[in-house]
Amino acid sequence: MNAQTEITAVEARIRDVVANQRTYFRTKATLPVDFRIAQLKKLGDLLRAHEQDLYDAIYNDFGKSKHHTQLTELFPIFEELKTALKNLQGWAKPRKVPTNFINQPGKSYIVPEPLGTSLVIGAWNFPYNLSLIPVIGSMMAGNTTVLKPSELPAETSRIMAKIINENFDPGYLHVVEGAVAETTALLNQRWDKIFFTGSPQVGKIVNTAAAPHLTNVTLELGGKNPAIITEDASINVSVKRLIWAKFINSGQLCLAPDYVLVHKSIKTRVMERMVAEIKKHNYTVERGNFTRIINERNFDRVAALIEPEKVYYGGETSREDRVIQPTIVHNVSPDDAIMQDEIFGPIIAVLEYDTLDEAFDIVRQLEKPLAGYLFSNDKTTKQRFLAEIPFGSGAINDAVMQITNANLPFGGVGNSGIGRYHGAFSFECFSHMKPVLEKTFDFETNLKYYGHSDRQMKWIKRLG
Ligand code: NAD
Repeated sequence: MNAQTEITAVEARIRDVVANQRTYFRTKATLPVDFRIAQLKKLGDLLRAHEQDLYDAIYNDFGKSKHHTQLTELFPIFEELKTALKNLQGWAKPRKVPTNFINQPGKSYIVPEPLGTSLVIGAWNFPYNLSLIPVIGSMMAGNTTVLKPSELPAETSRIMAKIINENFDPGYLHVVEGAVAETTALLNQRWDKIFFTGSPQVGKIVNTAAAPHLTNVTLELGGKNPAIITEDASINVSVKRLIWAKFINSGQLCLAPDYVLVHKSIKTRVMERMVAEIKKHNYTVERGNFTRIINERNFDRVAALIEPEKVYYGGETSREDRVIQPTIVHNVSPDDAIMQDEIFGPIIAVLEYDTLDEAFDIVRQLEKPLAGYLFSNDKTTKQRFLAEIPFGSGAINDAVMQITNANLPFGGVGNSGIGRYHGAFSFECFSHMKPVLEKTFDFETNLKYYGHSDRQMKWIKRLG
């Protein structure tokens, strides 16, 4: 088979998958909330039944341990399912809102409506979490769903495809595995919703593909997340939290602090503390608190960012094992290569600053990040940080943990993304919140039937 016929075969297969899902959606089977709840329960049961397979697959892909997988992948998925099962009946009901004076007597409400057929495209770094939490959102809202997991962790993609495709009607929920060819073929179809997690570069491809159909798009992208540590911060607590947040998944986390701006008066103490924390954790794949870099291409990219003369700690790498030791580089300037793109690996770049204005300027000169972190005890500094630094989500005196609170939406801004999800926000992300005004036949004011009279004008002015 040559490349052209292969692409055509992929396109044809995917066209059928989508056509089948559209037909299924039109049957209205997904509309009853009880149906959605039953399907969500079924997904949860299947994941529980295959727990060991899920652990094995991700360990084989990039050395992610059972404990780490439980904490960062399965626990958040089960939490999301639990929240969905508890709240879905309520979320799916029409929501009453007040009716303004000129529409009296009448009532107003918002009716959640499924969008139709969704495409969810996952990223590799948290392959279960970033694929299945959006899928749960799509199911909650009553859509049919096609999931395209990242192809890089091949075994996790395969196990999700097996679990879902062997147990769900493909018209309702189906996994299409593959890389660029398959994703391109998927993006060539018309969707009612595309939910994409990945890089800003591919996010632009997705947005372009969605444009001809005006498809509703959510883009969960990345960026360079700043962490600012001010003179008055508790160094011990700040560094402890920062180091944990930085080295989860070996820094392959979209929310990880990317670079740290430290006030020059505390820089040495902060870096000494960072080294002590790193040593305390004793990060290794074998101990289960570190992972391999996903592939050689990413290994080469991250390793190339380590300038030997700027290494304060670490810097050792093994291409054979795809491991980069936790590394701190310092004396970094905004022009350095490491400051040009998201690091997405186990390197902390330390920049020092003198005034808060200087620190904020460095952040503001870069694209709007997915996350912003401030470690400070000063009220004015906190207020300035919130008012002057744009970011998708953030934390003060912590990092990454904002994602664990489903009452806070998760998403980016500008170059780090469009839209938000998790919990109730996921339900809305995959729904059209349809606003409706309902009147009776009983009564009608004549104000809107414009008669050009002075009396009408007087009333309109009075009501405005
Ligand atoms: P990626 O953009 O390379 O890939 C994401 C998905 O897009 C994959 O499923 C892949 O198969 C597909 N894809 C890749 N190239 C494509 C192309 N040319 N055309 C169509 N589809 C294509 O991203 P990644 O390497 O998987 O993930 C790393 C990036 O994702 C980082 O920028 C990170 O910050 C970001 N990320 C964001 C979040 C978030 O929730 N905001 C979470 C994780 C990762």
